[in-house]
Amino acid sequence: MRLAIIGGGASAVTLVDALARSAPKEKVRVSIFEPRAVLGPGRPYQEDADSALINRPADAMSIRHADPLDFRNWLREVAGSGEFPSVDPEARFQPRWLFGVYLRRRLASAAARLAAGGGTVDVCAAAVEDVIPVDGQLLTLTSTGVTQPHDHVVMCLGTPRPADIYGLSGRPGFVADPYPLTEPLPTGEPVTVLGSNLSAVDIAVALLRRGHTAPIRLMSRNGLLPSVRCRPVAIDPVEADRLAEAVRHTPPAALWTTVRRLLRSSLAAHGASPDEIALDLAVGESAAGRVARQLGRTDAADCWRAVLLPLLDPVGELLWQRLPLHTRESFLRRHNTRIATVLNPMPPATAALLLEALRNGSLEVHSGVTAVTARPGGGFTVTAAGQEHRAGVLLNAARATPYDPEESAGWLLGRLAERGLARPHPCGGVYVDFTTNQVLGRASGLYALGHLASGDIYYANAGSLLGISARAERIVARIQRGSTPGTSPLATSSTLTIGGRLDG
Ligand SMILES: Cc1cc2nc3c(=O)[nH]c(=O)nc-3n(C[C@H](O)[C@H](O)[C@H](O)COP(=O)(O)OP(=O)(O)OC[C@H]3O[C@@H](n4cnc5c(N)ncnc54)[C@H](O)[C@@H]3O)c2cc1C
Repeated sequence: MRLAIIGGGASAVTLVDALARSAPKEKVRVSIFEPRAVLGPGRPYQEDADSALINRPADAMSIRHADPLDFRNWLREVAGSGEFPSVDPEARFQPRWLFGVYLRRRLASAAARLAAGGGTVDVCAAAVEDVIPVDGQLLTLTSTGVTQPHDHVVMCLGTPRPADIYGLSGRPGFVADPYPLTEPLPTGEPVTVLGSNLSAVDIAVALLRRGHTAPIRLMSRNGLLPSVRCRPVAIDPVEADRLAEAVRHTPPAALWTTVRRLLRSSLAAHGASPDEIALDLAVGESAAGRVARQLGRTDAADCWRAVLLPLLDPVGELLWQRLPLHTRESFLRRHNTRIATVLNPMPPATAALLLEALRNGSLEVHSGVTAVTARPGGGFTVTAAGQEHRAGVLLNAARATPYDPEESAGWLLGRLAERGLARPHPCGGVYVDFTTNQVLGRASGLYALGHLASGDIYYANAGSLLGISARAERIVARIQRGSTPGTSPLATSSTLTIGGRLDG
């Protein structure tokens, strides 16, 4: 059985790991296509500044959803060996780079396990530009001219890069994609970041920890920082079942109203205050006031955010999928930017650092951005709330829009759409079958994992590692049931570049 994985980030690691753990009865040939030099970390977990923390607690960052403590146990192992003396294996939030090491090592051991069973994992250091169905197989074509036939292809393309909303790419001083965060920036020069979401916060923290002396400005339309993560409360199984039942059985047209009513009543039963909900979702409170207020609530059992997340987590996927398409579209248009600050919160340690910087004036957060233009003599003018601000260096952390045809993921999806192999989803990514993650289109054997499936599998789940790992297992089960091994006439003409980058 030949399996191609397009993209070599965390999703690819969960997939190879799930495949290796399934102990396949037949020989598998896995080919991973990834243009980046290092396989495993993908975009979020590269060799970043030490300061960049993972946004989720370490106990929810495993590549195995049935073993959520796998990362934690790995941390204890490496700390015990003395390999990384600075690592505190019990810290709730761990550095991103360390998670990158975990991913690389889990990939290496999964590849070794497949090899022990007679399989292979090869790496091709190139982007895939097209996938063509030929004689019941799928042929991948890369930017370097490599062609290879497969029985199954899983696209793990990650999130789109930040949108260039104001058309500034190529202008001196404009950093279109700030990851990795290790790029040197002049410490004495003011820095403006477009956006106030998690990526913008990552940039601010990296700069502050690096001793950046000039002001850092985060500027966005709503000026809302991510909420501060609370300790989740335990949900009574009866309450969880009531919600799950409603999500499963309410007719789609009434689902949104019913679920909102149930969530409201659960929040009220936990003592959540409507004023706190309104304040958390409203624009206008000062950034320092908001962060200080939320930092004071991280352990509060009656904080609505501490209740909402564990309530929604088990039902989020099915709820999203059962909502009518127009409700999903309207939700994304009207509520998503504000709700995303709650569903994707920042660690309290990050919030504490921001608060100190907001109070001593080294960090500012501005709302009401309406325009950004390049100045004739260099630099930029950012118009926010009717005032013009000058910026020399502008880092782009705007929310991602659909995949840009200029990036390799967008290019590939464009080719697939042209030939009817995939259909763009109005809520993000491409249409997939909810049960199997198979891409809905003319080719069988083509799958999407991670953000690319977020139109049908709500992104908060599609992008969370435990959610991705559960889906990876479904794909593995599916391809093992439906695999059609056999030598294709095309197999002999393949010229795969072996990268040998499955290092520990
Ligand atoms: C900046 C950022 C921070 C995040 N932080 C967190 C966090 O703290 N906690 C958390 O749980 N989740 C976080 N996430 C969510 C994240 O999406 C998942 O945790 C997970 O890393 C997704 O892995 P992936 O493999 O799907 O995507 P990625 O890691 O982005 O990997 C996708 C890979 O596909 C490759 N690729 C794209 N197109 C092609 C092509 N045509 N051919 C070949 N290769 C291609 C890219 O080069 C890339 O390496 C973050 C996401 C981002 C973008």
